[in-house]
Amino acid sequence: MVDRIHNSEREELDNSNNFIIKAYGLYKIYNAGEPSMVTALNNVSFGIETGKMIAIAGPSGSGKSSLLNILGCMDSASAGKAILDGIDITILSERELSEIRKNKIGFIFQEFLLIPTLSALENVLLPLIPDGISKADREKALNILEQVGLRDRADHKPKELSGGEKQRVAIARALINSPAIIFADEPTGNLDTKTGDEILAILRDLNQNTGVTVVVVSHDPLVWEKTDLLLHLIDGQISYA
Ligand code: ADP
Ligand code: MG
Repeated sequence: MVDRIHNSEREELDNSNNFIIKAYGLYKIYNAGEPSMVTALNNVSFGIETGKMIAIAGPSGSGKSSLLNILGCMDSASAGKAILDGIDITILSERELSEIRKNKIGFIFQEFLLIPTLSALENVLLPLIPDGISKADREKALNILEQVGLRDRADHKPKELSGGEKQRVAIARALINSPAIIFADEPTGNLDTKTGDEILAILRDLNQNTGVTVVVVSHDPLVWEKTDLLLHLIDGQISYA
């Protein structure tokens, strides 16, 4: 049985520098004050140690994506504090958040989210476009495609790729900025079991070979066994049962 992350004490988090993520009393409330109000995260506190691979589990609607989006600097918390690599991301402007996303974070989605008109190589280079793409960037992208076993598919468009290959392109895209942390929101949700296993093996290898921290949302107990820790959410709270 893999160890579970529990709701951490403030001192425990404050006193360690080993955490790439520290979350203190995070809340996410959608449509606050309206009849449709939803408390998606309800006082969530925990730390993720640098270099670990952790799984996030929990029923549909338990707040997994809400948590990932906040930690991944794609959405803001309603209350509480989140420290990513020493930076308080809950007080940053949109512009500052996008800098952090660019410099520190890789994101992988269940739906792959590749641009259909671009080749695999161009999709991998996409995050670099705002700063201009150098020859070295193209080399790097090709090397990463090689790393995920897709060097020979560099010129293929997404529709010419299988689901597993698309997700490998998405992994390569998440790696192009050499992130400190990768967030993967149900990356195997649209894949068959065998292909999903391959995708998780790639993420685990990356974690072990490069030291990148990996946070992966998954329902699969077999996945949990392969990660260092499990964070289980129920109704927006960490369950330690
Ligand atoms: P999970 O990823 O575990 O399925 P989510 O974080 O997506 O859970 O959602 C948690 C809760 O917040 C759900 O009840 C969901 O309906 C609600 N929710 C998520 N996103 C929004 C949104 N943009 N507006 C309103 N409610 C939302
Ligand atoms: Mg979700």
